[in-house]
Amino acid sequence: MRTPLIAGNWKLHKTSAETKELIKGIIEKTGDVSGVDIVVAPPFTSLPAASEAISASLASPASPTSIIGLAAQNVFWEEKGAFTGEISAAMLTDAGCRYAIIGHSERRQFFGETDETVNKRINAALNHTLKPIVCVGETLDEREADKTTSVIETQLKGGFEGIPKDSFPVISIAYEPVWAIGTGKTATKEQAQEVHAFIRGWLKSNYGDDTAEKTRILYGGSVKPSNAAELMSQPDVDGALVGGASLNAQDFSDIIRFSVSN
Ligand code: PEP
Repeated sequence: MRTPLIAGNWKLHKTSAETKELIKGIIEKTGDVSGVDIVVAPPFTSLPAASEAISASLASPASPTSIIGLAAQNVFWEEKGAFTGEISAAMLTDAGCRYAIIGHSERRQFFGETDETVNKRINAALNHTLKPIVCVGETLDEREADKTTSVIETQLKGGFEGIPKDSFPVISIAYEPVWAIGTGKTATKEQAQEVHAFIRGWLKSNYGDDTAEKTRILYGGSVKPSNAAELMSQPDVDGALVGGASLNAQDFSDIIRFSVSN
């Protein structure tokens, strides 16, 4: 009922030439899979190269038909002005982006991201038709102190403050336990399902049944071909936000294929 979404977060990897190569590889290896939305988030400087590589693949009659959506790894909330180093939502749509990852734990951990700035970014993205992929997740200390759901609830409350129900058709939420990101440790399918069900319950209480049923909730944290199928077999796991494994065309395309066979 919910189309799976598989998004690759490339983080600080890939020049323009490497971006073209990787996109070509993903398209070749994925073939004409359908029933899944595929997204890649290269660094800002590689967005034009990514956009070109996707258009070139669509123009070639010999190419498979997979359509890849482009995502930004972040978006600033102001439109323009004296904000050195920032990129606006309008600039990102101009560069071909259709999605924006917002509130990634590395932004929260290393760059002072808060629920309040997440909220501003969500608003900016929505105002420019960028589809937000909003990340939430607890640290290991928080999990061990039995605070997982209260941390997630605070992040959801603050991040979505004032965001209207009618924006939700374009919003996805990524549950990314911080202890599982880039560590090789994956949440078990039961741990993932438990938190995903909690997030869906929160959506239900705050936005109603229909929004809760339709909103995609992705899992992120050391997703790889060997664990993708079991994570995605869970009823409330609607796709994945993939870091490390999205840098390898074969691994990423295997994850994409596992998401449709579930
Ligand atoms: C991420 O960056 O969102 C992520 C989940 O990374 P990894 O898959 O490498 O853990």
